[in-house]
Amino acid sequence: EMFGQLTSSLEAAWSKLKGEEVLTKENIVEPMKDIRRALLEADVSLPVVRRFVQAVSEQAVGVGVIRGVTPDQQLVKIVSDELVKLMGGEVSELVFAKSGPSVILLAGLQGVGKTTVCAKLAFYLKKQGKSCMLVAGDVYRPAAIDQLVILGSLNSFSYSVISLGQVDVPVYTAGTGVKPAEIAKQGLQEAKKKNIDVVIMDTAGRLQIDRTMMDELKEVKQELNPTEVLLVVDAMTGQEAAALVTTFNLEIGITGAILTKLDGDSRGGAALSVKEVSGKPIKLVGRGERMEDLEPFYPDRMAGRILGMGDVLSFVEKAQEVMRVEDAEDLQKKIMSAKYDFNDFLKQTKAIAQMGSMSRIMGMIPGMGKITPAQIREAEKSLILMEAMIEAMTPEEREKPELLAESPVRRKRVAQDSGKTEQQVSQLVSQLFQMRARMKKLMGVMEGGSIPALRD
Ligand code: GDP
Repeated sequence: EMFGQLTSSLEAAWSKLKGEEVLTKENIVEPMKDIRRALLEADVSLPVVRRFVQAVSEQAVGVGVIRGVTPDQQLVKIVSDELVKLMGGEVSELVFAKSGPSVILLAGLQGVGKTTVCAKLAFYLKKQGKSCMLVAGDVYRPAAIDQLVILGSLNSFSYSVISLGQVDVPVYTAGTGVKPAEIAKQGLQEAKKKNIDVVIMDTAGRLQIDRTMMDELKEVKQELNPTEVLLVVDAMTGQEAAALVTTFNLEIGITGAILTKLDGDSRGGAALSVKEVSGKPIKLVGRGERMEDLEPFYPDRMAGRILGMGDVLSFVEKAQEVMRVEDAEDLQKKIMSAKYDFNDFLKQTKAIAQMGSMSRIMGMIPGMGKITPAQIREAEKSLILMEAMIEAMTPEEREKPELLAESPVRRKRVAQDSGKTEQQVSQLVSQLFQMRARMKKLMGVMEGGSIPALRD
């Protein structure tokens, strides 16, 4: 689970407010200590933690009582809002040139995942219909050039666990005898000739920051006049990542950061500190070794995950990739109005199955955060089971699950027609109502309504 440690440390804070009726100056003292400790443990830098705790405390004391909302829930909401703010509030989109090729210049220290990001980014942009070209400027590491060629080209080299095939983009290389700024220039010319939409320029990484690297980057930047200069940083390095973003920004001027290895057991410090410390947003995050594991950085969803509330929005969005758009909107409406029925259940289930990576999706479904591989296999099996039963229902029963809840006779028929037991049918019916309740609750939070208890 991403940032699992932070999530559970924060839980200590909420639990201290159980039984309280309002938030007071006195009763938030202990929870605030927990929050402070949790953030420091997550490797958020001290000045950031201080400002954060200050901001949360001020709001907590001033907050009015809302009927039906407990003080711990109120504190969760305040912390959530502040986390979103801390991470930059809105998602920060990539900027593209109005005409001619857009140039994305990538910088970063060695081993942070820069080369992998090049290929992932090309894959990501191609999915949006943009043609891309990689330019290999990492002249000090011939291996990096080969790696780019392997990642980017048509050839049949297999690369770790790519599941959607090779990235298939042209890679411009000029060998190792040419200066990076020169390679950049040639690469850009080539891209213009070929009418490429986006040029992704990979540059040399070093183990540490040094003068030569910075000067070289400046030269390349001057040559390319890029629309984006992105620093790739490793989430595992915590607040150090934020410090690097600051340094690179002061030295060469960057437009944002890409945070990699968010799937590992990073503690959260980098994700939480980069914007606040450097003033530059995290634009994209890498969450695995596969080509499709690069996504925009959504502060609100990240906050949701940190607080362990699951993430219905991400979930609905993933489902959208597979389902038709109007279906998904319809689904959202249905969730809100508690009309979510077996048809939706089936549609969604099929979509999830199609998406394959169950574990990823599961992490986003409320209440299913802490799921093991064995449970995932179990879930996949139950998909097959569910499908048979839902198909044995009449259209009316699918739309009105209440019919099945009320009638053992109907459940018996469904069981017989699908070759399952009555108990299995009963379980499925109650599962649907649970799902409905859970989603309703969560959508309530997102709409700014009352906040449900954190865990079911
Ligand atoms: P570079 O030296 O910065 O170019 O780094 P590479 O792109 O060669 O990546 C270094 C290692 O990190 C490789 O083993 C990658 O597979 C791995 N890696 C890169 N991005 C991610 C990520 O988001 N998650 C995980 N788990 N591994 C990654």
